[in-house]
Amino acid sequence: MTSENTPLPFDDEGLETKGPYKVLVLGGGPTGLSAALYAARAELNPLVLTGLQIGGQVAITHSVENYPGFPDGVGGPELVELFQKQAERFGAVLEFDSAVDVDFSQRPYRVKGYNAIYEAESVIIATGATPRKLQVPGEVEFTGRGVSYCGTCDGWFFKGKDVIVVGGGDSALEEGEFLTRYANKVTVVHRRDEFRAGVLLQKRAAENPKMSFALDTVINTIDGNGEVQKVELKNLKSGETQTQPIDGVFIFIGHTPNTEIFQGHLEMEDGYIVTNKLMETNIPGVFAAGEAADPHFRQVITSAGMGAAAAIQANRWLQEHSS
Ligand SMILES: Cc1cc2nc3c(=O)[nH]c(=O)nc-3n(C[C@H](O)[C@H](O)[C@H](O)COP(=O)(O)OP(=O)(O)OC[C@H]3O[C@@H](n4cnc5c(N)ncnc54)[C@H](O)[C@@H]3O)c2cc1C
Repeated sequence: MTSENTPLPFDDEGLETKGPYKVLVLGGGPTGLSAALYAARAELNPLVLTGLQIGGQVAITHSVENYPGFPDGVGGPELVELFQKQAERFGAVLEFDSAVDVDFSQRPYRVKGYNAIYEAESVIIATGATPRKLQVPGEVEFTGRGVSYCGTCDGWFFKGKDVIVVGGGDSALEEGEFLTRYANKVTVVHRRDEFRAGVLLQKRAAENPKMSFALDTVINTIDGNGEVQKVELKNLKSGETQTQPIDGVFIFIGHTPNTEIFQGHLEMEDGYIVTNKLMETNIPGVFAAGEAADPHFRQVITSAGMGAAAAIQANRWLQEHSS
């Protein structure tokens, strides 16, 4: 770890201390709620700090069609509700608070939230990821005024309007297709000459009369007057630019792991927490799973699986190391 990464001393700011818990789960997405289910069933009475969004990215996903057990697909928010209900049924407790600092220098480990200091014998980090920004002029200014990162949340506002979807992966095509329910026209803008999305999704998008595609193309600027009105597009092959009138820009270009608070406390690589195959970090008793630790798979099922694995391993570790 470099000196730049050396964290500031842990300051409890006189907050109330809660715990110690046997297992503290940080994050209430598929990873955290699955870890909580397994930890609860092992009678470890886990506490889950949910962060701002119970359900994480699934809560903002219109439909999940590849989670086993739901042959007709399942709504993202509905799946979250089921995950939560199942974890709570076995005694997991969810707390609406976010971790803002950690002290892993001695046990019990300490995690600072906005409301309290949480002490725990073991910690499972499941803080997931947030959508990556395009970083073009106008993006920040028009967020919530035509720029969005969530079709399910904002699609309705674009009834009969023209929108752009930026990205080339599964999320871009899936959400683009969903947006055709409302929008008059959805143009998918992608910087490469082919999509990364699965074949089925590509086929469906190609057959959708409301969808069109601008490959080898990027957005230079987003502009408007209080709300998005136009974008400047650049074709990367020809170098040509053109202004296109548009009502909305939906951005699905990947994610950045929510791991900033662990910098200097845990071994990380490219912002992801490094774990071994038992979901163990370099600090004994601190586990990480799901999109906070996984740059490869990034699915509900893989994240849930890693969460379950982290809880199973935390249980084994606690059996060996409980004071
Ligand atoms: C638009 C979209 C569509 C998708 N569609 C599909 C799909 O069809 N099928 C599929 O398998 N996958 C899909 N995914 C991916 C899937 O949603 C993710 O792989 C999965 O949600 C990752 O789970 P996670 O729990 O690791 O992280 P997240 O879902 O990101 O959850 C992170 C959790 O951590 C919490 N948190 C963050 N910071 C803190 C903190 N400091 N303290 C405490 N808590 C914190 C958040 O509030 C949240 O509860 C989609 C994603 C998006 C964005």
